[in-house]
This record gives sequence, C-alpha cells and structure tokens, in this order.
Amino acid sequence: MKQEELKFEAEVSRLLDIVAHSLYSEKEIFLRELVSNASDACDRLRYAALTQPDLLADDSGFSIRLKTDPAARTLTIVDNGIGMNRQDLIDNLGTIARSGTAAFVEQLESKAEGANLIGQFGVGFYSAYMVAQKVEVSTRKAGEAEGWRWASDGQGAFTIAEDPEAPARGTRIVLHLREGDEEYLDAMRIRQVVSTYSDHIAVPVVLESRKEDEPDETLNAASALWTRPKSEITEEQYKEFYHHVGHTFDEPWLRLHFKAEGMLEYTGLLFIPSSKPFDLFHPDRKTGIKLYVKRVFITDDCSELVPSYLRFLRGIVDTEDLPLNISRELLQNNPRLAKIRTALSKRVLSELKKKAEKAPEDYVKFWEAFGPVLKEGLYEDSNQRDTLLSLARFRSTAKEQGAGDDLVSLADYVARMKPGQEAIYTITGDNPEVLAKSPQLEGFAAKGIEVLLLSDPVDDFWLTSVPDYEGKPFKSVTRGAADLEKVAKAESDKDSEGEETAKEASPALDALIAFVKLTLKDQVKDVRVSARLTSSPVCLVADEGDLDMHLERLLKQQRQLDQSSARILEINPDHGLITALAGQIGQEGAGGVVEDAAWLLLDQARIIEGEALPDPAAFSRRLSALVEKGLMSGS
Ligand code: ADP
Ligand code: MG
Repeated sequence: MKQEELKFEAEVSRLLDIVAHSLYSEKEIFLRELVSNASDACDRLRYAALTQPDLLADDSGFSIRLKTDPAARTLTIVDNGIGMNRQDLIDNLGTIARSGTAAFVEQLESKAEGANLIGQFGVGFYSAYMVAQKVEVSTRKAGEAEGWRWASDGQGAFTIAEDPEAPARGTRIVLHLREGDEEYLDAMRIRQVVSTYSDHIAVPVVLESRKEDEPDETLNAASALWTRPKSEITEEQYKEFYHHVGHTFDEPWLRLHFKAEGMLEYTGLLFIPSSKPFDLFHPDRKTGIKLYVKRVFITDDCSELVPSYLRFLRGIVDTEDLPLNISRELLQNNPRLAKIRTALSKRVLSELKKKAEKAPEDYVKFWEAFGPVLKEGLYEDSNQRDTLLSLARFRSTAKEQGAGDDLVSLADYVARMKPGQEAIYTITGDNPEVLAKSPQLEGFAAKGIEVLLLSDPVDDFWLTSVPDYEGKPFKSVTRGAADLEKVAKAESDKDSEGEETAKEASPALDALIAFVKLTLKDQVKDVRVSARLTSSPVCLVADEGDLDMHLERLLKQQRQLDQSSARILEINPDHGLITALAGQIGQEGAGGVVEDAAWLLLDQARIIEGEALPDPAAFSRRLSALVEKGLMSGS
C-alpha cells in the first residue's frame, strides 16, 4: 500500500524537541491530553449529528476506551468520535493551528524554564511523545469511506497511508511506550491518572479488562461536571475541568458556577485564568467559552456569548433556551443569546467588584493581567460603564507623592482631589516611567494634584468616549489650559497666606513670545506662558478642541490619520533660559541667536513628547552653533 512521508511544520519539530528533552515532571498528563481530545471528538460528532443523524450510523453511544498490551508495550486509546481524514491528519497533527503558538514556541526555546512553561501551555497531542517513542493514529472520519493511518517517531517527519483496519468511525491511538514508562501499562496507575485529570469528562472512559472473567471498568463519573451538585465537586475536579475546556494549564483565579432560572434558563461554569494567555490580543483568537444546548456541545467559537472585553473568560454555558438544531449562523443576532450575554457580563462584573472590595491585593493581580482588556468595555458597553469605571485601576503620580498604592481607583482619586479641583487629570503615553517625568506634570506635582498615568493603548480610546466619573470630567494635562490657577485660588482662600500664582507678564517676555511666534509661524498654533511648568523651559500642549497628542500619534502609527494639528508651545517664564532669551530681545545682533533658540525650544519640546523631529539635521546644526557660541564666549 502506498505510504507517503511528510515533514512536520518547523514549529512542530521544535515543539517535539522541547517535549522530548525537557524532563517534564508530570509526564502523566499525556493521558489527560489524549482523553481530552477524544472527548472533544465525541462532542464534535454529536453536534454534527444534530443535522446529519446518519453520521452516527448504528453506533450512538459514545465512549473512550483504554487498552494495554504488556507484551507489545503499548497503551491504546480509542474513541468513536468524529475521526479525521487525510487532510485533517496533516492539518491537525502536522502543524500547529492555534494562533500565536509559533511565537510561544520561540519563547519556550529562548528560556531555560521551558519545562515549566510547557506545564502552563499544554502541548496537546504531542505530549504523547513524553512517554512514547512511536505513535500510531488510525482513524476514519464519520461519514467517509476511507480510513487512514498516521505514524511518527516524533523526529521531524510522519507517514500517512490508507488504512482498511482503521476503526469503523473515530480514532485509535497506539502509544509504543519508552523504556522506563511501563507504569502506564498498569491498571492501578491508569485508574489514578484518569480519576485525577479526567473525571469530569462527560463521555465514559473505560479500561478494557485483559482477563476473560473480569468486566471492563468505567474510570470516570461520565456526567457533565456542571450538572453535578456543587457540594459534590472538588476543587481538583473544577481545576481539571478548567484545564480541559480552557486548553490552559494555570490555576484559575476566579470560578463562577451558577444556574439561572426564570425568563432564561442556563448554567454557567466560568473561570478567569490567573495568567495572561499569550494570544489575548491576537485578532483571530477564538472565544474561550463553549456553548452547550441541553448538554450537547454546539460551538467553542460563539462571539455572541460574551462581549469581547471579557474574552479572557474560560468555561461553558449550557442553556435550555435555544433549539438543539440551532446552526452556528443562527447564533448571530439571536435575542436570547444577547440576553444571556448581558446577564453573564453583569454577573462576572459584580463578582469582580466583590473581589476588588474583599481582596484588593488579589484583585490587583487580575487587573495587571486583564485590565487593558476590561477597559475596552468602557467604550464598547455603555450599560456597564459605571461598573467598569469602579473596577478600573490606574497608575498615578500619587505614589511618588507618598499617597496611594501602585494602582489607584477613581474613588481613591476623587477622595484626594484638592479644593477647587474639578477634573480628573490624566496623561497618556507608552510607558508609565517616562510619563511620570513629563514636563506637563510639573505644575500639578508642585500643587500636589494627582495625575493618572495611562499607558495602555486602549486608554486614549476610552478617554474620548467616557465623559466623566461621578460628574468629574477627565482632562488631559497635555491639552487646553491647565486650570491650575483655580485650584491654587481655592487653596489660598483656605489658608490666606497662599502665594499668588497668576504669572505676571513682563514687556520683555511679551516681546520674546511675539518673536518666537513670528519665527515658528505655522509650526505652532500659539506660544504662551505656561502655568504647568516649574522646572522645564518648554512643553507642547494640544489646544482645547484638538486631538490628544498621544492619541494622534497612535492613530498616525495605525495609518488612520495622515495629518497632525499644530501644537501650542508653552514657555516657563521663570526658567533661566527663558529670562535670558527675553533679555536678548532687542539687543543688537542677537536676532540670529534667539531665532535658533526658538527652533531649539520647539524641537526640545517635541523630543520630550516622543515626536519625531521634522528636520533633525537643522536641529543638530542649530544645537552645535549655539553650544559653540556658548563655549567661545566662556573662553
Ligand atoms: P487542541 O486539542 O488544543 O486543539 P491538540 O494538540 O490536543 O490540540 O490536538 C490537535 C488537533 O488534532 C485537535 O484540535 C483535533 O482537531 C485533532 N485531534 C486530536 N485528537 C483527536 C481525536 N481523538 N479525534 C479527532 N481529532 C483529534
Ligand atoms: Mg487537545
């Protein structure tokens, strides 16, 4: 019979290499993976049979059967699920289809703790090679005539050939155990592994007896975990269920198991992971929640089930309210599903709120992993906006000022607002450490006014659509007037010896401003005296109605915007450089120097802002000229 040899995709080879060479401490999980796949295969056939009952033929009782053969040193796992055809074998067992996996494998290779990471990631089918030197897969897809045999020693290539001996339907996997792994031929050991990891599997897992007079033994409870009474489910069982449905291997951070009754009837068993999945921001990532109707698996890719800002959730929803024969297309815009989604979102958010109140430190861990995703809800789901605002945590300048933790809530912020302060001040950028040094913050810091340091890309977007928090508007410190006078005034009214802050304009300063404006022309929208600077000479700010500067940069990077608006250049009248320049205005022969200085001030402000200089060569030339002049006059 014709047999083809095909090469594994590069990532698979690398992954197999890691699997074989990392002394993974829990080898036994290979069985969990294979049983999990067999159960998925049964789920998928059961779903397909809803519309094509013929697929079941005369075999409608699903099961997963385990057989051992000590003489041949083989462990065999057989299921009567959906099976695979030739192309499925190549696609599923020869390549890694999961989005983002290639990047993950790279990470595994670059780190010494590969074995550890594998534990969190799970290598699925390939984990068989932890115990097997050779794996043979014989399979026939439901409804198809030909059977196929896939075989590989896990060393770069696999073979495929037609296989008349394949099961009538489903998949048989034969593991040729490595020397030293004979324990997986032992009934006791198999029983123990299955009950540890696979008890929640809804299909019976049966160990075939090797003796004539002994019956086969069913090793698991074989009922869907979420249908069992909570009191009868152990923490371990919940965890293993989470690993199975979530295709993930960390500890769940939060679990919700509930039954909704009344208008809509559904059960939910949902988890929030403790670690961030590597594909959280991958665009073609599937949702992590499986939809069941009356215990029958329907789909694991129903984007209607939870809003995208809760896409870190894992688990299942099983409902009585949808028809069993619902097609995946009909799930779109289904009003019942929409109601379930709203109810689920509310439930999850209210659970998060409880956590935030009762266990704030633990909550921070969640927020660090998933806060940036949750914040998407601020503009996607206006119904939940208030709740989401109360759940949000931010870095702020309060920490440096000795008040507040690493992350603050808006309630904390509002409680610390100064008399006369009307807005919640924010600054957005790429990196909180860099943001904390922004010149625009100086005046706020001097007055002890807290500013939120927002460094997730999503921040710029929700800020444009969320008007306020409890009536307090959000205001960027890099846009419009700084309002610092108002706060200062309220402060000085309170203790009357407060300093007078309104900066007094001097004629020399006015002349400098006029000169700079004239020099920079349309490169700036305006030049004005700053209320927000205390130690830097200049900064850029956006005009009141203009786009936030950081948002504009983001949009330009994403090519959603191709022009920039001119900025306002603010100057610090108390800075030595500014007073010196003001002194030069009108002096004979000083025009050239002040002109260069005006351009340098603007370029400086652009650099601090993180903007590219339109003419770096001119910047360099002016800087050299001025420094040279300074050195010459000093010598
Ligand atoms: P995952 O289960 O996360 O998709 P695996 O590596 O465990 O990844 O399996 C890869 C794919 O191989 C599965 O998605 C499935 O399509 C296919 N597969 C594995 N085992 C079986 C099986 N027993 N029956 C049918 N298909 C299977
Ligand atoms: Mg799997």
